[in-house]
Amino acid sequence: MRKLATIRVIDELHPIEGADAIECAVVGGWKVVVKKGEYAVGDLAVYLEIDSWVPTELAPFLSKGKDPREFEGIKGERLRTVKLRGQLSQGLFLPFDVLRGAVVILAESADVSEFLGIVKWEKPMNAQLAGMAKGNFPSLIPKTDQERMQNLKKEIAGAVESGLQFEITEKLEGSSMTAYLIDGVFGVCSRNVDLKETEGNTFWQIAREYDIEDKMRIAGLNNFAIQGELIRPGIQGNIYKLSKPMFMVFDMYNIVTGSFLTPHDRRALTKVLDVPHAPVLMVDKDLGMGSIDEILSWAEGKSVMGDIVGPEREGIVFKEVNGGMSFKAISNKYLLGEK
Ligand code: ATP
Ligand code: MN
Repeated sequence: MRKLATIRVIDELHPIEGADAIECAVVGGWKVVVKKGEYAVGDLAVYLEIDSWVPTELAPFLSKGKDPREFEGIKGERLRTVKLRGQLSQGLFLPFDVLRGAVVILAESADVSEFLGIVKWEKPMNAQLAGMAKGNFPSLIPKTDQERMQNLKKEIAGAVESGLQFEITEKLEGSSMTAYLIDGVFGVCSRNVDLKETEGNTFWQIAREYDIEDKMRIAGLNNFAIQGELIRPGIQGNIYKLSKPMFMVFDMYNIVTGSFLTPHDRRALTKVLDVPHAPVLMVDKDLGMGSIDEILSWAEGKSVMGDIVGPEREGIVFKEVNGGMSFKAISNKYLLGEK
């Protein structure tokens, strides 16, 4: 679960050129524009990450004098990536005071989302894609979430120190899909749900089209999961200009050993199975100096999918070559252009 609202210490404050009423606060790998003088370095405050749905009572100013929007019955606003006076700003700081009356463990990075009534904003689900549930997502298989690099400053510094290398793949904008064979039973899941095989279900259709069940059986991949992104003409405005749905693998998980295949082994097995793999941009890249800003700049670029000049890519995903840590770097250019 993503911690949307956390207790944090302000790490740094920087002036913004040409602006005297605002300044830039830094917490972990995030930068947030705040009112000048409202916070000092070392202050405790509550930090809300982008995509937080913020109830209007907490921060009425987010509606800019208009009526607040509504999500899941809560009046409020979504925190987006913005630029103010040329300064990128992601998320929102609230004074520590908003926690008055809360019973919270006063530890740095304590999660206070629930107390504040903050939920995660989600894109509305496409009805046809929603499919029909056969059950919950199998507990034996990890879900496909990736942590944002801004929350892994220490871990990334550690990776640089140990000289770790990473595979970098393009982050595709579609729907997470998992195909599995557990004790001889084949199944197909969306991000959170084990799906019934029904006629109009795109996830199952694509699994059949790539013949994934037979291929897994023939290869003896029992108690095994293949995870990837389902991209198709109908979603996200068909940014990849596809004429038909595609499944592109980004993870393989061995349930018996409880581990992911290394990027190298996954790519090799994907070839053997003849299933497309998510675009690989680098196979063994170090993290440079490990600066969050530098790595975020790598995330920006055109998609290598589809036409020669693709759309702005959503970002990139890092996977340690020995099957260790993984994380995503979302392109700020993409976030700023998001509708
Ligand atoms: P957050 O929880 O940070 O708001 P989110 O829940 O929307 O974000 P995403 O930003 O979509 O999650 O990031 C994780 C998802 O990215 C995975 O579930 C997976 O479906 C998708 N994904 C797309 N391309 C890749 C890739 N190359 N490698 C790994 N995951 C990928
Ligand atoms: Mn997503």
